[in-house]
Amino acid sequence: MKPILWITFYLPNDLAERLKPYVTIKMWQDDIHDMPQEEIEAAVLEADYLWTIVPNQITAAVLNRTTKLKMITNLAVGFNNIDVEAAKEKGIIVTNTPDVLSETTADLAFALLMTSARRMLDNAKQLYQGKWLGWQVFGMTGTDVHHKTLGIIGMGAIGELVAKRASGFDMNVLYHNRSRKEEAEERYGVTYRSKNDLLAEADFIIVLTPLTKETHHLIDREALAMMKRTAHIINVARGGVVDEEALYDALVNGEIAGAASDVFVEEPVSTNHPLLSLPNFTPMPHIGSATVETRQAMVQRNLDAWEAYFTNQSIPYRVI
Ligand code: NAP
Repeated sequence: MKPILWITFYLPNDLAERLKPYVTIKMWQDDIHDMPQEEIEAAVLEADYLWTIVPNQITAAVLNRTTKLKMITNLAVGFNNIDVEAAKEKGIIVTNTPDVLSETTADLAFALLMTSARRMLDNAKQLYQGKWLGWQVFGMTGTDVHHKTLGIIGMGAIGELVAKRASGFDMNVLYHNRSRKEEAEERYGVTYRSKNDLLAEADFIIVLTPLTKETHHLIDREALAMMKRTAHIINVARGGVVDEEALYDALVNGEIAGAASDVFVEEPVSTNHPLLSLPNFTPMPHIGSATVETRQAMVQRNLDAWEAYFTNQSIPYRVI
């Protein structure tokens, strides 16, 4: 009997066809809803190999109970949904999909910045609701993006490409990482700042760190209070990086001007989420990498890792 590869999401068009000589494929068959957590855990225990997406939580508790799981590929660059320390202890290989989604995600980050600055969602809603009644000098006005200061927190692969886009808008770009990146400073003309200085100086902030213990609530109440009252914050990282309750309060109390987020602590986000009631907040349903070209390239990265494993080659895109 061939070993089992469990794909814990729906992968259409028989894209895993080329793995069939090596494994028996089991796959979640619902194209609309994510696999429930209890079923994921049963699949993890049954699997020799596992192919996951970000909503699938692969916890230490379940990894510690596995007896035959050897490798996990995650269809994302972020891998906060997998307890990689627990995987490492069990000798389980984990791979992700770096680089191929960076341009596409940078596009979305910049689109959200523009949407928030120009109040595009709120203005479109007013149009749909028949509230566009005439041309007013200061009606429906937002704020300029060009020549403003952008602060990027998490100047990694995606952050650098956001900086590149910002240079076309003549923006002054600041960044914060745990370590300075002199190469990026030279290439994109960006300037390093401490987190607090960046928060105080930027007109727009884009958050692009991984979600880790250290970055959980990196943008908390205190951080939001340091921002300009005219500033906007855009989260394209992970829901937990920004304290959603503190963000809601900052937006309602006018401590900051606007925010947009592609990611939420609970996904899919409830339509009753308080942030969704605010005119100065733009939500997106986690579509950072969601273009046909990029999703195909991400699948390809995972397939390449599987083929390398099954043909005893060196495995690319390893996280551990
Ligand atoms: P990356 O190349 O690894 O860059 C991450 C950056 O974050 C690094 O420059 C890192 O620099 C910085 N960082 C890490 N911990 C930090 C901390 N505590 N404080 C400040 N900076 C910190 O990753 P990437 O490919 O750009 O992706 C970044 C994240 O975006 C992913 O992990 C993922 O969660 C998210 N993402 C979301 C979507 C989406 O659909 N919305 C799509 C792709 C990625 P130092 O190590 O020097 O601190």
